[in-house]
Order: sequence, then C-alpha cells, then structure tokens
Amino acid sequence: MERCYFCKGKVMGRTIRHVHQWGEKVFIFKNVPAEVCSQCGETYFGPEALEKMDRVVTGLPEPEEISPVPVYSL
Ligand SMILES: [Zn+2]
Repeated sequence: MERCYFCKGKVMGRTIRHVHQWGEKVFIFKNVPAEVCSQCGETYFGPEALEKMDRVVTGLPEPEEISPVPVYSL
C-alpha cells in the first residue's frame, strides 16, 4: 500500500505496539509489522500479522511476558 485509504497520506512500514481488545480481555502485541499513515496515523496490518494475532486471541498460547494494564473508571 502506498497511500492511506482514508486521507491519501503517505503510508510507511514500521513495527508497532498494538493493543487489541477482545471482549473483556486486552492483548498487547509488540514488534507487529504494520504500515502506518504518516498523516492520520491509521494502521494497516498485513495478512500474516493479522493471522498471527488472530491465533493468539483465539488460541491463547503462553505469552512471552505479562504486562499490567491500568483501567480507569470515570
Ligand atoms: Zn491517513
């Protein structure tokens, strides 16, 4: 992908930290290969990254590390 689907900004390949919410659970993925719009920040994942994350979310293998996630009530 060269241009952002939404704003037509330039999209660049990066590895990012991605927070994924699945029902009541929160998953944090690091070193995720993605393409990020330099203008609006929209993130695009490749099919391989999506598939891997899907496998984690639905299959729950042992995580490499557990990170506490703070939750705030307003
Ligand atoms: Zn954009």
